[in-house]
Amino acid sequence: MHWDREVDVLVFGAGMGGMTAALVASLEGLDVLLCEKTDQVGGTTSTSAGTVWIPGSAQAKRDGVPDSIDDARRFLEAEIGPRALAQREAFLDAGPAALDYLDARTEVKFRAPPRHPDYHSNQPGRALAGRALAPLPFDGRLLGKDFALVRPPIAPFMVLGGMMVGKDDIAILLKPFASLNAFAAAAKLMLRHATDRLRYRRGTRLVMGNALVGRLFYSLKKRNVPIAFDARLAELVNANGCVEGAVVGIGTARQAIRARRGVILATGGFAPSEKLRAEFMHDLPVAHSNAFAGANGDGFSAARAAGAAVDAKHTSPAFYFPSSLHKDTVYPHILLDRAKPGLIAVNSDGRRFVNESDSYHDFVEGMFRANAATSSVPAWLICDRGFIRDYGIGLVHPGAGNRQIERYIADGYLKHGETVMELAQRIGVDGKNLLRTIQEHNRYAATGVDEAFGKGGTEYNQFNGDPANKPNPCLRPIVEPPYFAVAVYPSTMGTCVGLSTDGDARVLDPDDRAVGGLYAVGNDMASLFRGVYVGPGITLGPALVFAYRAVMHIARG
Ligand SMILES: Cc1cc2nc3c(=O)[nH]c(=O)nc-3n(C[C@H](O)[C@H](O)[C@H](O)COP(=O)(O)OP(=O)(O)OC[C@H]3O[C@@H](n4cnc5c(N)ncnc54)[C@H](O)[C@@H]3O)c2cc1C
Repeated sequence: MHWDREVDVLVFGAGMGGMTAALVASLEGLDVLLCEKTDQVGGTTSTSAGTVWIPGSAQAKRDGVPDSIDDARRFLEAEIGPRALAQREAFLDAGPAALDYLDARTEVKFRAPPRHPDYHSNQPGRALAGRALAPLPFDGRLLGKDFALVRPPIAPFMVLGGMMVGKDDIAILLKPFASLNAFAAAAKLMLRHATDRLRYRRGTRLVMGNALVGRLFYSLKKRNVPIAFDARLAELVNANGCVEGAVVGIGTARQAIRARRGVILATGGFAPSEKLRAEFMHDLPVAHSNAFAGANGDGFSAARAAGAAVDAKHTSPAFYFPSSLHKDTVYPHILLDRAKPGLIAVNSDGRRFVNESDSYHDFVEGMFRANAATSSVPAWLICDRGFIRDYGIGLVHPGAGNRQIERYIADGYLKHGETVMELAQRIGVDGKNLLRTIQEHNRYAATGVDEAFGKGGTEYNQFNGDPANKPNPCLRPIVEPPYFAVAVYPSTMGTCVGLSTDGDARVLDPDDRAVGGLYAVGNDMASLFRGVYVGPGITLGPALVFAYRAVMHIARG
C-alpha cells in the first residue's frame, strides 16, 4: 500500500464526537488529523440544544444540584434493564473524568441548570437536575474570520436575522418591560446583536449546540489541530482484520492516509439516509429527518464494508421529534408548544392518543402506537387564538399578530376555523369527535387532572408547562376562536442503530472481537440507551465520553 500521508490518529467527522476525539488526541500528544466532509464544522451538533447527559459530575455539585452515579445506575437499570451493561458502566465511570479533563484543559465548559428533569420522572433513581448539563455560551468573535466555518443553527431557531435565543432568553425578549432587570437584559442582547450585524452575517453570541461547537472549534484552533475540510472518508483500508488507514476524498483528489494508532469514525449516524432508514426502520412511517444532511451513513457503511457488526437490537431504531413541515424546514416541536396549557394532539378520528407534554420521542412513539389502529400520521396539534398569543405554535411565534398568522394560513402551514367543526372539516378529521375531545379536555383543564393521558402529571411535564397556569401548568381550556391546527410528522433526530462497540468504543465484528485500529463514537456507535430516551442530552453525552475513552485507549497503546 502506498500511503500519501501518515498520522497517529485519523478522525472522520467534525461534530461532537469527532471534535472531542481530535481535541483529546492532541492533548495526549498524538499526531492527529480531523477530516470533515463539508466546508464547516458542527454537523447536527451545531443545530442541537447542546445538552449533555452525564451523571455524577463535579459541575453539578459545583452548581448546587449534586447527582449520584448510584442513582443513575438504578435509573438506567429501570429504564433499559440489563442491556449494554458493560458500555453503560464504562460511560458512568468515565463521564465525570471526561468532563473534568475538558474543563481543566480546554474551552469546553458546562454548567448544570437548576432544573432539567429526566424524561420518566416516575422511575427510581431519576434526577430533577444535575445530569443534564448545558454548554456555557460562547463568543463567536473569538474565532475571528473562522467564525464563518461554524455551521449555523436552523433558521427558525434564530430571530432578527441571525440572533440565537436560548431558553432563558425567551421570557426576557417576550416581556422586556416586565421588570427593570428584564429590560436591561433585553436591551443588552439587542445592542450586542445590532453591533454584531455590522461585521458578521449572523449574531456571534452563541448558545446551545452552536456554543458547544464554537468552544470545541476554538479549543482545536488554540492547539493548532489540523482540520481538513472537504475531506471525505471514502473507504477504510484494512489488512488481516485490522484497519490501517483510509482513502480520503479531498476535493477531487484521493489520498491514502495511514493511521498508525487508530481511525475514529464520528460521521454522525445515518438519520437522513433514505436507503439506510428503509433498511433499519422499514416498518415505521418516518419520512423526515432533523439531522444534518451530510451525516448520512458514510462511517457506518464504510465500517460495515470493513467487517464491522451492526447492533440493531433497540427498543426503537432511532430517536424522534414530532416535526411540522414548511417549505424546506423540518421544524421540531421540542418544548415550546406541546406541553403548554391549551394544546392537544389528535389523530384523524379527532381523538387524543398521547400525553402531549411527554418527551418528543415518547410523543412520536405514541403516534406509532395509535397509527396501528387509526391513521395518526400526521397528527394535528390543536389550539386557540389565546394559545398563539401566549406561547406560539411551531413556526408561529408567541404574540404573533394577524399578519403573521395570515401568512402561515396562506401557505398552508397553519389551518384555522371560526368553529371547531370548521377546523375539523379543513384538516379532514371527524368533527363531532374533535368537539367532544375538546369539551372533555376543557373539563380536565377545570379540575387540573387529565383523566385520559395525565398531561402535566410528571415533573418533566410540568417543567415544560407554564408555572403561572393553575391548577395544572399544562392544562387550560381551548375556548377562544378562531381555532388553529398544525400537522406534525415523525422525524428522526438521530439513529440508535449503529456500529457494535465495546466500552472503549472499539468497533466489534460479528463474533464480538475488536476490529483492530477502528473506533466509533457519536451516532456512528450504537446508542448505549438501546432506543429508550431516558433524558435530555443522551446522544451528545455519550459522544463526549466515548470520544474521550477511545482516545485514552489509543494513548495507552
Ligand atoms: C434540533 C435538534 C436538537 C438536538 N438537541 C440535542 C441535545 O440537546 N442533546 C443531545 O444529546 N442530542 C441532541 N440532538 C441530537 C444530536 O445533535 C446528535 O445526536 C449529535 O449531534 C450527533 O453527533 P455526532 O458527532 O455523532 O455527529 P454530527 O454532529 O452530525 O457530526 C458528524 C459530522 O461528520 C461529517 N461527515 C459525514 N460523513 C463524513 C465523511 N464521509 N467524511 C468526513 N466527515 C463526514 C458531517 O459532515 C458532520 O459534520 C439534537 C438534534 C437536533 C436535530
